[in-house]
Amino acid sequence: MKFTRRALGATAIALAFASPVLAQEKGYVGIAMPTKSSARWIDDGNNMVKQFEEAGYTTDLQYAEDDIPNQLAQIENMITKGVNVLVIAAIDGTTLTSALANAAAADIKIVAYDRLIRDSGDVDYYATFDNFKVGVQQAETLVAGLKERFPDTKPWNVELFGGSPDDNNAYFFYNGAMSVLQPMIDSGEIEIVSGQMGMDTVGTLRWDGSVAQARMDNLLSANYTDKQVNGVLSPYDGLSIGIISSLQGVGYGSGDMKMPIVTGQDAEVPSVKAILRGDQYSTIFKDTRELARVTVGMVDALLAGGEPEINDTETYDNGVKVVPSYLLEPLPVTKDNWEERLVESGYYEKSQIE
Ligand code: BGC
Repeated sequence: MKFTRRALGATAIALAFASPVLAQEKGYVGIAMPTKSSARWIDDGNNMVKQFEEAGYTTDLQYAEDDIPNQLAQIENMITKGVNVLVIAAIDGTTLTSALANAAAADIKIVAYDRLIRDSGDVDYYATFDNFKVGVQQAETLVAGLKERFPDTKPWNVELFGGSPDDNNAYFFYNGAMSVLQPMIDSGEIEIVSGQMGMDTVGTLRWDGSVAQARMDNLLSANYTDKQVNGVLSPYDGLSIGIISSLQGVGYGSGDMKMPIVTGQDAEVPSVKAILRGDQYSTIFKDTRELARVTVGMVDALLAGGEPEINDTETYDNGVKVVPSYLLEPLPVTKDNWEERLVESGYYEKSQIE
């Protein structure tokens, strides 16, 4: 007993000395993620910790459960602890300006992760996916689904949902989708029966599925007593779940009420299952392993005083500067390609889905 305790004590002392040395060697990375309520952010966090640690960094990973003051406090705490780099997926992209000014004053590098941080000149780089293209792909799969499931319906009755108005990505998704849908609305192929359009009207604060469900309930009762909805543009799987339960609640998916085409994003397991059942039509796969790889590469280059690899220097103006960015390719997923995209790529085990 005594021997074990002494041995443990020695290990603890060795570890206590080992980690600061390691941290000084390669660097200490603070990773601020928005919430654990969505599997994608858990994957993002895990992939980053794994890859940063493999590359020799020490990490501090924090989740803020979509609470803005909580995220701010976590970031301030990381600054106090002396991180060399902050990697931040912001909850509200406009609330971090003064914390980031303090970080920059302490020579801490700042990488915006997936979501652009706005109103700050201190953001060094941005690692993300091509967010406009995500919206384009959502709308393209919506239209493909409408043609497939409702070939004889004209116009197609569609409703629109947007993401959280405090997330810069939400505008890119919406604008990307509207680049496909607006011409079809103008030509009369698609009708937005409620007339509700524009991010001011269709946005969903904090990406909350229950808010989307309540809005879908209202849209149905106010506009669809004598007609059926054929398609719903949803920008995120968590919203799609709420939208689908609202639709099923009034009988869609049974009898002569065909399930509308519902889109999504993130290829989260429950939603891929919903695609296989035919409840959801599509999602967008964004490989978080790749986003972690790009981010680790950026941090490596930044700390070594080099130039991170970027492929976009025009798109992401945060209100103060155009943030140099690396954009990854999003991939649409339907029941026809889920296995190839999600299982053959090693992202999921087949048994997780079927
Ligand atoms: C991300 C999406 C995600 C959404 C909700 C966005 O900023 O880019 O992948 O679906 O947040 O978490």
